[in-house]
Amino acid sequence: MEINDKLEQYYSKDLIKINILLNKIDNLKYEVEHGDTHFLCDISGVCEVEKVDDDADCDIGSCFFCGTELRRVNDDWYHNTAFDDNYHLIDSSYQTHNYMGSKAGQPRSVEERNLEDVEDELNKYNKLKIKQFALFGNPVSHSESPRIYNRLFVEKESLSSYVAKEVNGIRDIANQINNFDAVNITYPFKEVATNIVDDLTYYAEVTSSVNLIKKDGRKLIGYNTDGIGFSNTIDKLNQRILIIGAGSTAKVSAIVLKENGHSVYIVNRSQKNLEFFKEYGIHTFLSKNMPIEKFDIIVNMTNAGLEDNELPLEKEKLIELIKLSSKGIDLIYNKKTPFLALFEEYGKEYEDGKRMLLSQAIENMKIFFK
Ligand code: NDP
Repeated sequence: MEINDKLEQYYSKDLIKINILLNKIDNLKYEVEHGDTHFLCDISGVCEVEKVDDDADCDIGSCFFCGTELRRVNDDWYHNTAFDDNYHLIDSSYQTHNYMGSKAGQPRSVEERNLEDVEDELNKYNKLKIKQFALFGNPVSHSESPRIYNRLFVEKESLSSYVAKEVNGIRDIANQINNFDAVNITYPFKEVATNIVDDLTYYAEVTSSVNLIKKDGRKLIGYNTDGIGFSNTIDKLNQRILIIGAGSTAKVSAIVLKENGHSVYIVNRSQKNLEFFKEYGIHTFLSKNMPIEKFDIIVNMTNAGLEDNELPLEKEKLIELIKLSSKGIDLIYNKKTPFLALFEEYGKEYEDGKRMLLSQAIENMKIFFK
């Protein structure tokens, strides 16, 4: 069998073909396929330079994982949080790990391998137990999760694999779940999947929704890490946060944000989902009654903008709220939604949901390998 087919067995749609098995042997070196040649190249960590802006005065790239801007100082890349307003490097702990080296697209140090050697090593490691993880949802083809988790597994030096699986309902989930050590659950099964678990942990129980199910002996345990994942992306303390939307992500995020000392307000287009928040002393508004007040951060936790160009609130009202706010966050990722475009138009800071995705993945990893 061709080496590429073997690699494909483990990794569904990675940016480059990473051979995690060789990585074990070769002390953090990746197998990279480049045309017909296989390279081993040095790596250091989870972040990498995605692209470089050739027209800029100095080398500017973007982080493959969090999407933020990167700048190069000498041979090292740093997230833009490492710089002051004049782009002087002030905090070198924000150095990004990149295996692309001095120029994106080219491995830093390479060593050609012969295909037979690679096959032999693969065969040796095929015998080891590889932990299997998956994302269950519908649709999932656009998901970044396999790429993120497979990279985190490499970082952790773990023999594990993560795939995205389109499933067709709770029966399908129940049939397939035993093929995996743990699975993440996404739209539209977060609520219904609570029916197949034996126990729910605290946040899953109070919100009646799970985004992770893990086997514990013969039992299936349901977790919800969306709230912790989101809360970890709020950099400042004591923020006044307006969440638009009242679905499962808003519920668990509001509870965790409140526990972490933020003031949380929820606005939703319909009443039914708002009832939940009253029990937790969280202020709620119906969209049509939303007053114009000052919030530090406004978050879109609705589906508006995901597959359409809708705004989650009436435009005029949203503009007045944005003018008074400092920052907008949309949980939808890899896209400048109409919601984020309004923050840009009014000169406000904004970010999409990629940081939440990564932060939640890091929380999930703790449970995967507990
Ligand atoms: P739910 O289906 O549980 O809830 C959706 C909420 O959005 C409901 O309150 C619904 O209102 C509201 N809503 C839906 N469409 C519109 C619209 N067109 N205008 C105004 N309100 C609307 O979804 P989730 O809570 O699971 O997810 C919410 C969003 O967060 C999704 O876009 C999802 O992709 C994203 N997400 C991103 C994550 C990440 O890692 N970046 C993680 C988790 C979620 P009503 O109650 O009236 O039906």
